[in-house]
Amino acid sequence: MKKLENKVIVITGAGMGLGLAAAKEAAKNGALLSLVDYNEKALNEAKQGLSEEYPEAKVITIAADVSKEAEVKKYVDETVKAFGRIDGFYNNAGIEGKQALMADYDLEVFRKVIDINLMGVFYGMRYIIPIMQQQQYGRIVNVASVGGIRGVMNQTPYVASKHAVSGMTKNAALEYGKHGIITNAIAPGAILTPMVAEAFRQVNPDDPKKAESEYAQFNPTKRLGLPEEVARVVIFLLSEDSSYVNGQTIAVDGGQSNAY
Ligand code: NAD
Repeated sequence: MKKLENKVIVITGAGMGLGLAAAKEAAKNGALLSLVDYNEKALNEAKQGLSEEYPEAKVITIAADVSKEAEVKKYVDETVKAFGRIDGFYNNAGIEGKQALMADYDLEVFRKVIDINLMGVFYGMRYIIPIMQQQQYGRIVNVASVGGIRGVMNQTPYVASKHAVSGMTKNAALEYGKHGIITNAIAPGAILTPMVAEAFRQVNPDDPKKAESEYAQFNPTKRLGLPEEVARVVIFLLSEDSSYVNGQTIAVDGGQSNAY
């Protein structure tokens, strides 16, 4: 039995990185997929790749910016119109912002990070929870970060937004557990995705690969994580296997968040 057989799963930020890796793992596990991203080109390529790898998978794509409430309502409405229900929600879209010390941080970039990472995650839950409440069933996986557990130099709005994601996860778990809605978050460490590649380019524009291998030395496993390693945890949290895990922020970071 596949873990997500006939489950309708919405994934935001599905065009690349962690969202795309989870989409592939969900397709492999029998899910019906609603893929959301504001990058239409990435979204189309993701759908194309998925249908080549998993020809039997049912996939719809919806171009939407998660920081805009009306577009969040649109992706939720379109998913329900297509599939009739929403069983699982991988609330993943997010950005890092630019790296700078707190007092120097550009206010416009700060607000943009909060709008996408905090408000985007909130809007998603705001519109999907009522549907799951009607069904008396749902699984929500929000994406925090190691930066939602501890501080990260030069990333104040990112850290603020990811602590907020972890907090909202606890509240959703408290408020909606009685309706069969299970809400958890994951806290990835550095995982090799386009977002992290860009971070290493900011740290060392001349030699990003050097920045990457230096960073990996801080990790107990001496390597960065792979998107598939995160995706497998996400599938666990979206499936019945996690039915009594609620309100947790689960680090997927090779143990890095235990260091001080
Ligand atoms: P990525 O940049 O590789 O992919 C993110 C995807 O989200 C892109 O396709 C992008 O177009 C989409 N997106 C961004 N803003 C959007 C918006 N406003 N509306 C709709 N789509 C939007 O990033 P990633 O590394 O896959 O990160 C995914 C999530 O994981 C983010 O929330 C990120 O903060 C979190 N995270 C990643 C890492 C890591 O190491 N990669 C670590 C911790 C947390």
